[in-house]
Amino acid sequence: MPELIEVEQYREALDVLCGETVMSVDIPDSAFVRPREAPLEVFDALVGRTLASTSRHGKLLLAHFGTKDDYVVGMRFGMTGRLLIDGVSPIETLEYASGRNDPAWDRAILDVGGHRVAMRDQRRLGSIELDPDTRQLGVEASTLTASALSGICTRRTKAIKAVLLDQALVAGLGNLLVDETLWQAGIDPRRSAGALSGHEIDAVAAQAVATVRTLSARGGSHTGDSFELRHLDATCHRCAGSMSHDTVGGRSTWWCATHQS
Ligand SMILES: [Zn+2]
Repeated sequence: MPELIEVEQYREALDVLCGETVMSVDIPDSAFVRPREAPLEVFDALVGRTLASTSRHGKLLLAHFGTKDDYVVGMRFGMTGRLLIDGVSPIETLEYASGRNDPAWDRAILDVGGHRVAMRDQRRLGSIELDPDTRQLGVEASTLTASALSGICTRRTKAIKAVLLDQALVAGLGNLLVDETLWQAGIDPRRSAGALSGHEIDAVAAQAVATVRTLSARGGSHTGDSFELRHLDATCHRCAGSMSHDTVGGRSTWWCATHQS
């Protein structure tokens, strides 16, 4: 699924079109619009506006239109969403997504200066929204600090994995980035967030930032050191321990039973 690393690659691809003007907006799938009661016509206001800049908060891609940031379009990519520009996506295949690539899955298409910008989403769990409220998102994961994470974890009894996946608390991390972060930090994903020591909070925050940086350079959320350990026959290549598996925070979770405690 697209995590912040993949969405950042989408943002970089879209950013190339800054300065171009929107010629048309086509949203063939009205169920893709948020909020659900929003009429499709609101997107007509984009026609004639210039793409001024792009930004990202967690997994939310933001396209800013007009000279005074008149309109902001938020794009969410769910489990299987990709951004294609003139038929090309920076991400060819997503983990857990079908290898098929069907234009019938194009849920929103913008013509920006003659370039076709399409949100292609097989499972349709993504969405497009005009002027999204970013205050509902937690702190940006790529710059997560120990003090911010400490404030988030205080008195929270749910598992640290569930806290890191909760986009209203920490924005941008998905299943693979969280498992890699906790494997690197040596923390059992089932541990209660509020029970982590200050030293452990420091380690998790530092590893979250380092994991995003390292895996961004490698090209995707699936390039972590622990990715190949996601099966029961695997032997941890840090400590030779065996791997454990369970559902934690609602997601399929792998961790080393020996060095993650
Ligand atoms: Zn280990």
